Amino acid sequence: MKKILAILLVLSLCLSLSAVALADGVYTPGTYSASEAGHEPGVTVTVTVDKNSITDVVIDVSHETAAIGGVAAEPLAEQILAAQGSEIDGVSGATETSAAVRRALSAALAEAAGKEAFGEKTLVADGTYSGKAPGFGLVSQMVCDVTFENGAIKAIEVVDESDSLTGEWFASAKELLIPRLLESQSLEVDAITGATASSNGIKNCVGRAIEAAGGVADEWYTPIEKSDAIVEIRDYDVVVVGLGGSGVLSYCAAADAGASVFGLEAAGKIGGNSVCTYGPMALNSEYLKKTFTDGQDYINEDDVYNTWIEYVESEDKADIIQKAVYTSGESLDYYVDNFGFEFTGLGLLGSFVVPEWDKEWCVYTPDPETGWNILGPNKTYQFLRALDIAMEKNEKNTYMTELRAEQLIFDEAGKVIGVQAKYYDGTVYEIYGDTVILATGGFMGSNEMMLETFGATVNPIGDTVNDGAGIRMGISAGGATYMMKTLPMVHVSQVANLIRTDDLTPDQKAILSALALTTDMPMVTTLGEPWGNTNQSGTVDEDVSVEIVFAPDFMYYNIFTQADIDKIRTEGLSEAQAVATSRFLSQGGTLPEAGTAVADIDEILSVGEKYNDVISAGSIAELAGKIGCSADVLSETLGGVETTYYAVPCTSWGYGTVGGLDVDVNMNVLREDGTPIENLFAVGQDSEGVCNIDGKAYTPWGGQAQSWTFVSGKIAGTAAAAVAKADA
Ligand SMILES: Cc1cc2nc3c(=O)[nH]c(=O)nc-3n(C[C@H](O)[C@H](O)[C@H](O)COP(=O)(O)OP(=O)(O)OC[C@H]3O[C@@H](n4cnc5c(N)ncnc54)[C@H](O)[C@@H]3O)c2cc1C
Repeated sequence: MKKILAILLVLSLCLSLSAVALADGVYTPGTYSASEAGHEPGVTVTVTVDKNSITDVVIDVSHETAAIGGVAAEPLAEQILAAQGSEIDGVSGATETSAAVRRALSAALAEAAGKEAFGEKTLVADGTYSGKAPGFGLVSQMVCDVTFENGAIKAIEVVDESDSLTGEWFASAKELLIPRLLESQSLEVDAITGATASSNGIKNCVGRAIEAAGGVADEWYTPIEKSDAIVEIRDYDVVVVGLGGSGVLSYCAAADAGASVFGLEAAGKIGGNSVCTYGPMALNSEYLKKTFTDGQDYINEDDVYNTWIEYVESEDKADIIQKAVYTSGESLDYYVDNFGFEFTGLGLLGSFVVPEWDKEWCVYTPDPETGWNILGPNKTYQFLRALDIAMEKNEKNTYMTELRAEQLIFDEAGKVIGVQAKYYDGTVYEIYGDTVILATGGFMGSNEMMLETFGATVNPIGDTVNDGAGIRMGISAGGATYMMKTLPMVHVSQVANLIRTDDLTPDQKAILSALALTTDMPMVTTLGEPWGNTNQSGTVDEDVSVEIVFAPDFMYYNIFTQADIDKIRTEGLSEAQAVATSRFLSQGGTLPEAGTAVADIDEILSVGEKYNDVISAGSIAELAGKIGCSADVLSETLGGVETTYYAVPCTSWGYGTVGGLDVDVNMNVLREDGTPIENLFAVGQDSEGVCNIDGKAYTPWGGQAQSWTFVSGKIAGTAAAAVAKADA
């Protein structure tokens, strides 16, 4: 009897304890937020809880790549509400965003539960374990070997990164990030700016190695303390913001003109997008003539100038376009003669924009040690060498990387007197100078500015660091913009989301790309209207066509019916599909010959659908719903045939934007009223709108963008030094 009573007592105690737990609840009701880094910093989860459950989730992914992480917020929020916690599947193709959301949610829920976000780590076994994860590489994933000893990470070695698209950027992630991971023993360390995908690749590899060693990767995201120091740097003649092509070239010219120069660069290395290029256009350069054409002129500059003016339909900026044409050769010569630049060849190629126009460009000499990467010659060494030469001209001259300019500093009268910037460790730098040159490479990295300007984003091939900071700073000083709506530099088409995992083999990825790039299927715009070859002859154009990249919203859909897919399964790709590959952004596979049955087409489509590279629908109305267009319009375009459809998005991949700040012939930023802000300059992509026109592609001589970095850099550096001297 006693025993039964005891059991009853224990039971009633348990019941009352759980009643207390339920009465108190798991959480303190309210709204809690936490942020984590996904592909970019700033993935924020805001969760509302009552005592025992999650009642609402808002996920801010506005800094993530629009087409990948950007579309993950809604499904992730649904998963969280269903799971009532962070045990969610995540969204395929948006692994980094999904992981960041999981961690941010855990942190927010821990706060709601009044717990420490990070407790003890599950022990990892001693030894070396491998982790594999997508980096920036297009063909294969990154592999790291991670050695653990006494529960800590002792060594990280990247053992496979064979196909990195941007070898030079990857190197900065490897050199800077690994020591920080070892020192902090935390996966929370920031990605190296300018090498985000490579950095996250390394961190994810380490995370997987932690799991392989019996640990829990999420427990290794322990907070990293940031510095709150403020450092003042004073008395420079010229401050150069951004040390890509135009920044380095401005720096050199200013130093050469006797100025003291401070340069700041947000990325972990200098060079920006300029180190992705083949090279600049340079018309009748003496160096190129001597080296390649026995001293003969190789182009008629008047023809180029006249065609250019005709193209931009205005002489408003004729003085600047004259500089862009008639001084392109001598600008290149100046940097060859004074700063050691070298070029390996001279090429006459068809224009990207108007096929019958030629463009004249030369190719950088590659680094003798590292040679070429997929995008072109490795050439950071040339820009570093030039900076070294420039720094020797004045012992005060220096520069810093991983220092991101955030705003201009003004005196009480509103005059620009410097730049405020943040170092990767949180330290704020105030750098004071007589003049400031903005060289931050345009705004393709800012989804907000892209949407505001074009109503659509473009997948970046180049730097997402270039997020319009320079243009916004120029505007904050009263500067005007010019031809902001010049179309972005896009010459490459590909699937919307590159699949960087092993979910498909490279050959399967090549087939998926061919479905996006082929020119023999009906093409449909985001509004459901016909585009490109639709209703035309369907001729095969192996080259990337401007029609494709400048479709409305910078994308369109290739539409396949079930019958088309069945035909591919049994009879293989058509002649057009079997040659539809992307320059630069190939995923490494080989397409089967036309007529070879593609038995695994259904697998390719279904993986493609997981990554938002394929949309399938059982009817026109369903397809229209998924595309977000009118069913009537789409039905008319597709001839009203009801069947199962597969829409494969073909999207534009871009190098950078073109429109920027309005400048005069000295590269001085101009106000709306046309007067110059005398000590503020803008170069490269931050001011290239002055050579262009809204609504059209940038001027058609391909190397012209890089040429502008030479021309504008030389002018601005020299002019800024002169203004600083006059001020002194
Ligand atoms: C893959 C690829 C291939 C290309 N091929 C060619 C070609 O063959 N010929 C050609 O003419 N053009 C080519 N281009 C275009 C060309 O690279 C650009 O037009 C040119 O490099 C722009 O130079 P820039 O100095 O304006 O920008 P960048 O060279 O990109 O320099 C901008 C710099 O500013 C830094 N930065 C950004 N924000 C901040 C901040 N807030 N604070 C501090 N620093 C900041 C960036 O990290 C970067 O280093 C190509 C571009 C790409 C991406």
